[in-house]
Amino acid sequence: MAIAHSVLDFQSYSSSALSAQESQLIQTSVDQFGAPLLLLDCDVIRQQYQALSRALPNVTLHFALKPLPHPAVVQTLLAEGASFDLATSGEVELVAEQGVPAERTIHTHPIKRDRDIRDALAYGCKVFVVDNINELEKFIAYRDEVELLVRLSFRNSEAFADLSKKFGCSPQQALELIAQAKTWNIHIKGLSFHVGSQTMNPQKYVDAIETCRDVMQQVVERNLPALSTLDIGGGFPVSYNSQVMPIELFCQPINQALSQLPETVQVIAEPGRFIVAEAMTSVASVMGQAERDGQIWYYLDDGIYGSFSGLMFDDAKYPLTTLNKEGEWLPSVLAGPTCDSIDVIAENIMLPKLNNGDLVVGRMMGAYTSATATDFNFFKRAQTVLINHQNIAQERLIG
Ligand SMILES: *Cc1c(COP(=O)(O)O)cnc(C)c1O
Repeated sequence: MAIAHSVLDFQSYSSSALSAQESQLIQTSVDQFGAPLLLLDCDVIRQQYQALSRALPNVTLHFALKPLPHPAVVQTLLAEGASFDLATSGEVELVAEQGVPAERTIHTHPIKRDRDIRDALAYGCKVFVVDNINELEKFIAYRDEVELLVRLSFRNSEAFADLSKKFGCSPQQALELIAQAKTWNIHIKGLSFHVGSQTMNPQKYVDAIETCRDVMQQVVERNLPALSTLDIGGGFPVSYNSQVMPIELFCQPINQALSQLPETVQVIAEPGRFIVAEAMTSVASVMGQAERDGQIWYYLDDGIYGSFSGLMFDDAKYPLTTLNKEGEWLPSVLAGPTCDSIDVIAENIMLPKLNNGDLVVGRMMGAYTSATATDFNFFKRAQTVLINHQNIAQERLIG
């Protein structure tokens, strides 16, 4: 199989990335649970949620579960007062189990089976997304219960994932859908979009917001029921190997554009990556090693089919480091454990000489990593270890 995927290179190794305290925590976690591990720090989830809340003061944040659908993340954000963005019945089940009030959720998959709609409705989630007539028609049966958002498409070739290739309609199609919904007596609540994951340029949001404002105005001019909600999606960027704009600065032009909307319009967002990327650190250990073509190959117990699946499915360049920094620095390759040759994490990377059992640490590993991991070749996925976790729901139950 020759599937192209990103391979981390020399820029990814940073020897100064771990404090003594962090190294200690990593070592004791591996002593206790073994490797590979993912350390999930709930304090970072809180900090990121609060930072984005401050940067977008008039926007209700619905955490998109997709990048890290972990119960501890849901519990942590629920305690922070967050809302949630669901896309599948599995995600509905996860938030329901954690006691998330259904009023705090929206369901944003543009294409659904009837069963998916019924599962979400049974839970109490009433807001859904459509981007075409075929999908709108599915809601005739539920028109007394639902409020819909129409998703618009804004292409973005620079993003890690251009989420407007597969979903979304044009402003003209949106107007036609809204008119059709009126004849079917289906309530259209507003518009939504996703400018693409890890969008570095806030202007993408500004352009999309301005187009949505135009559509909202045309809705009024055509005597269609006025729209009350704008959902500006996810896509907010984090710093992997290159520094991105601080989030307050990034959101300034977005807030400026939002302030031009009619006052009656409520704004919501669906951040995923921004909330969780920095919160998780991966720890893999060296299973064995070999010298090939002048480089040392280290075979780790986690790889492309596991926590580093983001190298295949996402575009993230995770910063790497090692606990052992004493050895001679040599050109090295980091490979995963499976028997497949594409299972390579990093090449042409200078690393201190590692021994079997030494630990390799990946930073910024919270988004689109374990979520897309597999058990290929029977290598079990990394276990997650929770740090700074306070399960308020359970404490309440006990109290
Ligand atoms: C994936 C996704 C998100 C989250 O996007 P990020 O880029 O991780 O912030 C939000 N909304 C929808 C509809 C998505 O598909």
